[in-house]
Amino acid sequence: MKDTINIIWFKKDLRITDNQCLFEYETSLPTIAVYFFESDIIRQSDFSDFHLQFIVSSLIHLESSLKKIGIQLLYIPLNAVDGLEYIGKYYSIKKIFAHEETGNLKSFERDKDVIHYTNKNNIKFIEYPTNGVVRRLKSRDSWNKIWKSRMSHQIYEAKKTTCDFELISEFSSNSKNCRKYYKHLFETIAQQRNLQKGGEELGKSILKNFLSTRSSSYMYNISKPFESQSTCSRLSPYITYGCLSVKYVFKETQKRMFELGQLRSTAAQNHIKSLEYFLSRLHWQSHFIQKLEDEPEMEIKNLNPDFNSIRNDTDTGLIDAVFSARSGIPYIDATVRELQITGWTNFRSRATLVSFLCNTCMQPWQSVASKIAQLFTDYEPGIHYPQIQMQAATTGINTIRIYNPVYNGKQKDIFGKFIYQYLPELRTVPIDFIHEPHLWDLFETLEYPHPIIDIKQANKEAKDILWKIKGNTSKETKNKIIKKHASRTFHSDRKNNTSSKKKHTSENNQTTLF
Ligand SMILES: Cc1cc2nc3c(=O)[nH]c(=O)nc-3n(C[C@H](O)[C@H](O)[C@H](O)COP(=O)(O)OP(=O)(O)OC[C@H]3O[C@@H](n4cnc5c(N)ncnc54)[C@H](O)[C@@H]3O)c2cc1C
Repeated sequence: MKDTINIIWFKKDLRITDNQCLFEYETSLPTIAVYFFESDIIRQSDFSDFHLQFIVSSLIHLESSLKKIGIQLLYIPLNAVDGLEYIGKYYSIKKIFAHEETGNLKSFERDKDVIHYTNKNNIKFIEYPTNGVVRRLKSRDSWNKIWKSRMSHQIYEAKKTTCDFELISEFSSNSKNCRKYYKHLFETIAQQRNLQKGGEELGKSILKNFLSTRSSSYMYNISKPFESQSTCSRLSPYITYGCLSVKYVFKETQKRMFELGQLRSTAAQNHIKSLEYFLSRLHWQSHFIQKLEDEPEMEIKNLNPDFNSIRNDTDTGLIDAVFSARSGIPYIDATVRELQITGWTNFRSRATLVSFLCNTCMQPWQSVASKIAQLFTDYEPGIHYPQIQMQAATTGINTIRIYNPVYNGKQKDIFGKFIYQYLPELRTVPIDFIHEPHLWDLFETLEYPHPIIDIKQANKEAKDILWKIKGNTSKETKNKIIKKHASRTFHSDRKNNTSSKKKHTSENNQTTLF
């Protein structure tokens, strides 16, 4: 006779604080926590070591936090259904607690398989919502209200188990071997690159440090590639992998705004404005993920099908040059290097990189989305694909933005600090030529290529093509996209007024803010 157990399945909720599973599970029943290293997911083209190292470092911290509440974390190197079958050989599974995940198409398929498996085996599968994302959302009109109510809910405190329960030894030694393998892999990757490391405690200390000082110039520096490295929150991977819940970050930010409000100085008022700006980004987090939740095919198909007629050929030589930081355009090459070394770049640089590849160079976004995803430690499919489509102009509802990376560099990196930081091969180039080194007399002495494309000319052509398609799109198509995906006005002002009397869409605010 097998013992009956419950399972807490950790996916992208690698935390103790504000984890509904740890609040709702049955403390008097034997419970194990599991993480599945799923080869089906790991093998996908959008997955990379950058993600793996963050996951493993988060799990190591999670494991010791779980121990404190009496729960053991098992590392299982199997796809979810195979993993459940494996556990089922030793135990009779009664319930599984997990969070809903809005991931790529493969994870969507996996979720359906798990539901099928649990139904067939009479296992109760209980899933809780993730941040502000709403499963089976009926209408976008009610979304802001739901988001606001989720953010105002109390923080879930993890409960201690009251059940003394020992695992079958073969079972726990297999998990130890898996842990050892992945820990070694993590240490190897961590030695090679300067990537952000995971873990709830680290996430909390980065948040604390951001709210106390770094955030004061958040708004002012948000698009500057050098300064934003330290003045942006840098919380994205912690939010992506759920080391921190958005609700927790939101509440801590509100507390800080209240404290600053007591000071009444101009500096404090400006600091509050920066934090309001930050709160609006937290709102966007779920707003974007909701798009993929409502339309998973966004990962592969243009939202506005009228764009299917263009960008049908991939120039692999050009794409390889860009991803080797050899485009000959310093701002683009420095962005790629920054990503390769740190796994992060700011919003503006991400948007410029996509615009350069998909608009200036007219490459299909489907040919570059995975390559970029691999370089983002914070890769979040629900933000990534809607953002890629937005920057590639295929959403049909946003204004078309075609960035000029040289102009961007001159505006946002006036002294070339970002370029000098990531392109040491340009260290001898005088500041006057740092954004266009090919115009410098001594350019031929450098180990650096000529620009891969005439940006001004290519952008002009792209503008004509993209606006023509957008202009010819039928009202019916546009309205359909707006109804399903466009944001309804949201305010995160000091009175915390998140509702709007007039219902109207404000999708373009997202880009006009930058
Ligand atoms: C083409 C493209 C792809 C992107 N892919 C991702 C991705 O895979 N994962 C990801 O987390 N962000 C993505 N972003 C959004 C944004 O660039 C990053 O969230 C941000 O740069 C992360 O740094 P930070 O945590 O310091 O951000 P902060 O500016 O400090 O923002 C705080 C948090 O708000 C959220 N956020 C910020 N900006 C946005 C935005 N524009 N849309 C939605 N949420 C936002 C993130 O969770 C972020 O951690 C993408 C943007 C573009 C243009």
